[in-house]
Amino acid sequence: MILAGLAQAKVSSTYNKYSRVPNRRGLTGEQVAAQMLIQAGIHDVRIERVAGHLTDHYDPRTKTLRLSSGVYDGRSVAALGIAAHETGHAIQHDTGYVFLVLRSTLVPLSNLGSTLAWPLILIGLLFGGSSSNMFITLGILFYALAVLFTVVTLPVEFNASSRALHMLEDQYFLDADEIGGARKVLSAAAMTYVAAAAVAILQLLRLIAIFGGRRDE
Ligand SMILES: [Zn+2]
Repeated sequence: MILAGLAQAKVSSTYNKYSRVPNRRGLTGEQVAAQMLIQAGIHDVRIERVAGHLTDHYDPRTKTLRLSSGVYDGRSVAALGIAAHETGHAIQHDTGYVFLVLRSTLVPLSNLGSTLAWPLILIGLLFGGSSSNMFITLGILFYALAVLFTVVTLPVEFNASSRALHMLEDQYFLDADEIGGARKVLSAAAMTYVAAAAVAILQLLRLIAIFGGRRDE
């Protein structure tokens, strides 16, 4: 929890800092995302405004890039970094990037896993006898699906950020000395995913440590 909290605080402070640094060309996040999509030969992705703060995401089901107002209209180094990152996800989708495909496949399984894991473990604890271990083992396996999802998310996020920074530089949206700020914002955001995966893995290990020994009873 401390790990996740620290990562979240770091994103907010880094974003606040670089959302006050205007980019030299005075471009908005929306303009940059639109240009990058054209450069990538993608013409069927819409860009929309979404309510909230740092709520930016790409929705592969509707092929929609949703940018928060601060990023959509923002002319900061941070806004361009985030807009480029989300465009990176749209390009991953367009090119069939393997970890994004895998991640999309895992979404329903992961949702099922996180919904059923704790009830199954609870049922296992309430029932005695031989069926008890079966329910607990099943619960832990379902939980592992949710953990796997957080792990597969990591290459997807790191790859989108790496694409973003290359595009920002190669397509002359940011100068070399402006890239550093965008990189810091994206690195801080990536750490929240690392923290989420670490928390999930630790929780899984904890479950295995608690219930692993019961097999012999
Ligand atoms: Zn992302």
